[in-house]
Amino acid sequence: MDRYAVIGHPIGHSKSPLIHSAFAQATGQALTYTAIEAPLDGFAATVDRFRADGGRGVNVTVPFKLDACAYATDLADSARAAGAANALKFDGSRCLAENFDGVGLVRDIVHNLAQAVRGRRVLLLGAGGATRGALLPLLEQAPALLFVANRTVGKAQALVQEFVGRGASAAVLAGGGYGDLGNAAFDVVINATSASLGQERPPVPASAWQADGLAYDMVYGKGLTPFLQDAQAAGVRHLADGVGMLVEQAAEAFAWWRGVRPATADVIRRIHVPLN
Ligand code: NDP
Repeated sequence: MDRYAVIGHPIGHSKSPLIHSAFAQATGQALTYTAIEAPLDGFAATVDRFRADGGRGVNVTVPFKLDACAYATDLADSARAAGAANALKFDGSRCLAENFDGVGLVRDIVHNLAQAVRGRRVLLLGAGGATRGALLPLLEQAPALLFVANRTVGKAQALVQEFVGRGASAAVLAGGGYGDLGNAAFDVVINATSASLGQERPPVPASAWQADGLAYDMVYGKGLTPFLQDAQAAGVRHLADGVGMLVEQAAEAFAWWRGVRPATADVIRRIHVPLN
């Protein structure tokens, strides 16, 4: 049977085995999917061993997404732009790398949540790996404005410089600190900071929220995070966490490996934790 796995450290929390097993069952694909914890200094050796044992591909999670990029022989645009990969496919001596996090995010917002990005004003909070992965897929949707705000202002500015001119031509990209947001309002506010993991909140100004907009926290399984609480208190009607993004990036990887795209709605429902 074809073997796949997710590699991370720690990995006990990973929902990927459950998601991919459900996909395999639903699509009739014969495969096994396990979770592997690699030592912090042993990503490449762990992947080498998995390949030697007949592994066909892996998902890669924290903290190895940069190592995965360095390991691969062939980088897709998504991985090159993000400087990080979350999926690898083995083809003889070649190792192909993709980053499906951003496309999973966009698919969740546009398809599952039925919220347009095209022509709208989008605020992306954070300037770490998740923001890097999200930038190109968001720009390809041609938002009217994509503003990247980060606590460390220079990081947001440098990141934006890397992506200027990428994506759809109509998209305007800018970046800075939370203080640079002024009174601007946004239709879609995406929290790509890790603040919610520590029950902290990014300092979004009250004027940034729109009642008919979307507040999206990439963190999942944490219920109503401080970020989502702020959005709710400001009257934002559409609130979502990142569980749909997680399942959609998994579906992209599954389709890339197996040539068949699984349906995602049932799996999202199964692992979704109510927001309140
Ligand atoms: P990184 O560590 O690369 O970046 C973290 C970012 O959060 C930095 O920009 C940092 O700012 C900012 N930050 C951290 N704490 C605070 C705070 N208290 N207030 C304001 N900003 C803060 O993390 P990732 O980009 O890899 O991940 C970000 C989040 O996205 C994680 O919570 C992760 O779980 C989630 N994620 C979800 C996925 C999904 O499938 N749903 C996929 C990938 C990620 P500074 O630069 O100033 O330090």
